[in-house]
Amino acid sequence: MIKDSSLGYEAAREREEAQVSRVLTWLSLAAALCLASIGAKAWHSDHITHALTLWGFILPVLANMVWYARTGNRDVQKTGLLVVVSVLFTYLIASGGEGNTGPLWFYVFPPLLFFLTNLKTGTMILLLVYLVAVIVFQFPNLPFVFAEYENDFIIRFFVTLAFESIFCFVLEASRLKARNELLDLALTHEHAAKTDELTGLSNRRDILNRLSEEFSRHKRAGHHFSIVLIDLDLFKNINDQYGHNAGDAALKQFAKLVQSVIRQTDVAARWGGEEFLLLLPDTSLIPALTLAERLRSKVEQDRFSYHGQELPITMSAGVCSVAQVDSIETMLKQADAHLYSAKEAGRNRVIPRVRSHTADTQSEPSV
Ligand code: GH3
Ligand code: MG
Ligand code: MG
Repeated sequence: MIKDSSLGYEAAREREEAQVSRVLTWLSLAAALCLASIGAKAWHSDHITHALTLWGFILPVLANMVWYARTGNRDVQKTGLLVVVSVLFTYLIASGGEGNTGPLWFYVFPPLLFFLTNLKTGTMILLLVYLVAVIVFQFPNLPFVFAEYENDFIIRFFVTLAFESIFCFVLEASRLKARNELLDLALTHEHAAKTDELTGLSNRRDILNRLSEEFSRHKRAGHHFSIVLIDLDLFKNINDQYGHNAGDAALKQFAKLVQSVIRQTDVAARWGGEEFLLLLPDTSLIPALTLAERLRSKVEQDRFSYHGQELPITMSAGVCSVAQVDSIETMLKQADAHLYSAKEAGRNRVIPRVRSHTADTQSEPSV
């Protein structure tokens, strides 16, 4: 259950990350085009150094895109773009750009930053960038600073930028909150749609899906698998004698026992009422019979109890391996027929029977 939901989170994160990367590729392309055209405008205005510097920034942007296309490394893509943009904006604020309009580009930074990183890292980088801006504004005589700004402009710039940053932070925080709540809701629904409420095992729909996946795997790659159809014996009597709640408790205890016996890769489902179905991937008939027999024996020996009362629980099972059939329907029919035989033969048994030295009535199954 926990494993399923964490897988769901992983898949959702992966989808989100892939989408962010696609957006970043388009953003990088737009940035390169923007730099090319603003550079061209600067060139025509005879601001040759500025034009060349802007064009120079196209190279790392394109290099980052090519690197990502070749390696698929999303962290490098994000960090690369962040570094280029940070250096570019520092240059714009230090040089003033054209007509001291360079700092205006800073307004692009907060939304981009929160889009690329998480809230904590974004805030830290933003504070760092503020610091750079303060240094540039405060010390116009530094060797890399060519622009001088009016005090009025500096004050308004910081106030508006701070306002925008806080707004972006709040928006991103509420977007993340809503997204996490939606994801939780979707995962809860997904889990509920696949799970039996009483026992926590897979439900009939889920195991049918898994069966059909396993059958396709068998057709494609020849992987063997088996199923075990289980029915608790004379369960109506349990309800009648000890009450429905005692019956429910026994079903839950049985589900726990099944899960302690099967492997991690096996799937146990509540097929309906007091019937259960086990799907055993990569298992041929004999190991499946051995497992079913071990479970039967455990159920027989285990002490099922409800409010101090001991409940006499046993199970019957019909086993079928994929090697004996040509479809899921015939597989289920075959297992059901074996289960019926087990009931007919006196219950508390597995059919086909595994050969053992103690039971003289048992016959070898046909594999
Ligand atoms: P058999 O050995 O032939 O399977 O006998 P049985 O009594 O188990 O079979 P039958 O089909 O006559 O009865 C099944 C019983 O299982 C009747 C039904 O009330 C009970 N049952 C099915 N689902 C639940 C459940 O969720 N909780 C409880 N307590 N009982 C259930
Ligand atoms: Mg039944
Ligand atoms: Mg029954």
